[in-house]
Amino acid sequence: MASTLGIADLAMRVCAWQRRQGRRHLPWQNTRDPYRIWLSEIMLQQTQVGTVIPYYLRFLERFPDLQTLADADQEDVMPYWAGLGYYARARNLHRCAQVLVTDHGGRFPADSLAIAELPGIGRSTASAIAAFAYGERSPIMDGNVKRVFTRFFGVRGYPGLRAVEKRLWSLAEAALELAPVDLDMTAYTQGLMDLGAQLCTRGIPKCEACPLAGDCEAKRLGLQRELPEPRPRRSIPDRHCAMLILHGNNHVLLEKQPQTGVWGGLWSLPRFDSPQMLEQACISQGIVVPDSGRMATFVHTFTHFRLHIEPWLVETPQRVAEWLPEQTWTPFEQLTHIALPAPVRMLLEPLSEREA
Ligand code: SF4
Repeated sequence: MASTLGIADLAMRVCAWQRRQGRRHLPWQNTRDPYRIWLSEIMLQQTQVGTVIPYYLRFLERFPDLQTLADADQEDVMPYWAGLGYYARARNLHRCAQVLVTDHGGRFPADSLAIAELPGIGRSTASAIAAFAYGERSPIMDGNVKRVFTRFFGVRGYPGLRAVEKRLWSLAEAALELAPVDLDMTAYTQGLMDLGAQLCTRGIPKCEACPLAGDCEAKRLGLQRELPEPRPRRSIPDRHCAMLILHGNNHVLLEKQPQTGVWGGLWSLPRFDSPQMLEQACISQGIVVPDSGRMATFVHTFTHFRLHIEPWLVETPQRVAEWLPEQTWTPFEQLTHIALPAPVRMLLEPLSEREA
């Protein structure tokens, strides 16, 4: 276990390092606007900084403030998230904006406990928003920070387990309690995130450059590769589907996905449990599915299952009527403005270029 002296000093060392080596020019830094901070924190969940930057800038250009986002239809919001994945984040973001406008006068609550009550905002995100926007002194525990604390304190067990996570939170609270009263919460919070992203990385961390190396338990014991401990193995089930790319006259048939589910609220291609069911649906509309329409199967991995997608490319000279209310024929040139899941966009892009 790291020494008490090491813990007392942790926050100051992180701050000093952040000012020297940390990231200070990201588009969501150097602002106290909770709206911009909140947006960045939600986008950065499960997603790398480099991927988030263009999405963040595009989103802000279209929805520059809370009111604009709350006033928009969800249908207008989703295209600005398409490709980032984890679409519940976008739906919650939109819902949260509406709750803030109707219940909080269009302002973020002034402390992390109240912020954590809002849709889609957990304890760590609430603390990060409050630290960056108001300088609130409360700890964070995102994926990067979990890794730093797990190694620094030599915490055993998978950090996703409730007991292990609880221990990490109490260590983070202890580190803050022992820090000076005038601690710069922006530098500290950002510093922990940066340490995890830049030095205390997955695989082999760069301990030689780390400001915490002198008191780090994982370094002392040579356990950097072993900590954090991995998720106990569980097998992810495989699912299969046939996906219909029905197109003709520069249009493609798309289907709106239900709000709940993996691609909730996005537009996708019609999906069937088997190629036989896809063929039956086509035949019922008088459409012939040629054997040559079968494309190479590929796998898309979700958190809870692997989806084996068998795409079928079928051209129809006459646009048939949509056979489900959620379906619509969409011109190829409009696809860039529509929220499509990444694998569907990947399938349609070559076709769009061909039809253009
Ligand atoms: S010394 Fe190494 S393992 Fe320990 S916190 Fe720093 S980078 Fe991570």
